[in-house]
Amino acid sequence: MKVSGITPSGRPQLGNYLGAIRRWAVDGSEHDLYFIGDLHAMTTTHNPAKLRAQADESLAVLVASGISPERVFVQSDLARELGALTWVLECTCSYGEAARMIQFKEKADGQAGVRLSLFTYPVLMAADILLQGASEVPVGEDQSQHVELARALARRFNATYGEVFTVPRAVLPLTGARVRDLTDPSRKMSKSSPDAGGVVFVLDEPDLIRRKIRRAVTDSGSTPVYDPDGRPGVANLLEILAACTDRNPRDVAGEHATYGALKEAVAEAVVEALRPVRERTTELLGDPAELARIRKAGAARAAERGEHRLNSALRLIGATAS
Ligand code: ATP
Ligand code: MG
Repeated sequence: MKVSGITPSGRPQLGNYLGAIRRWAVDGSEHDLYFIGDLHAMTTTHNPAKLRAQADESLAVLVASGISPERVFVQSDLARELGALTWVLECTCSYGEAARMIQFKEKADGQAGVRLSLFTYPVLMAADILLQGASEVPVGEDQSQHVELARALARRFNATYGEVFTVPRAVLPLTGARVRDLTDPSRKMSKSSPDAGGVVFVLDEPDLIRRKIRRAVTDSGSTPVYDPDGRPGVANLLEILAACTDRNPRDVAGEHATYGALKEAVAEAVVEALRPVRERTTELLGDPAELARIRKAGAARAAERGEHRLNSALRLIGATAS
């Protein structure tokens, strides 16, 4: 069973949808779990009201994209369970091995007022994985060291106190398209990007999507050619069009005589690909009672799935738990 998370550090964008969410909905097994990692979004400066809205929007987008509501939950709905398990795992983790996490060094470097949670968050991530008993964690290169930590902690706990945890391993994520920022194709499209002009959000209105795509950076050429290194902006548009229409970027390139025509086609394809998701997401967000029901049911299932592991871990490590 796999567990994947998406951090609501911003609003879901086209890259999240084409690169991850859409694949989860189609290719995921019925046992896989997806959570909205809002606790992880508190490790750097954040706005509480915005975070709550982004968590709800992310959950609604996952469900609207066709992921079964049975398979999703919001991390903070399990804050008590995860907080308790994080403590157990911090008592299983040495300071030295936590201090070896490269991502902390990268993210904390040169920053003032770095939160302690940014340092300890890999242990919370281990709790996310181990509480659910996941055997596989699909992650990119940047997160594989954290899965190795979860693996080491599971092994060590099991060997020291008694068998409780499934030992997880990192697996390659299902890869969809890699979408680049429309105004700066040297970087990937990101929901936490400082400049929203190059980012298409899942909930953007069709006219806004068209405007953003018309303004996308290309180059001094005029006829679309697929050349990711030499012409990254055009290649990005071709890849987006190919992903939205289930084709290959090279084939798509020959079908448009000018950059202008290509942009029109990309805009329409993106609008159509996102339309059903945007409509269902908007519907869900307009029905807070239904969204709350989905959240509550997801949280109850996730808590129940982990309850015996949390209780055993607390008991075995010496707490007076049930
Ligand atoms: P952040 O800026 O906070 O890192 P993000 O947009 O990069 O946000 P993540 O939460 O890091 O989103 O990633 C969620 C999922 O979306 C991951 O599976 C990641 O690989 C995928 N993803 C993110 N951005 C893109 C992109 N531009 N193209 C394809 N897939 C993407
Ligand atoms: Mg990211």
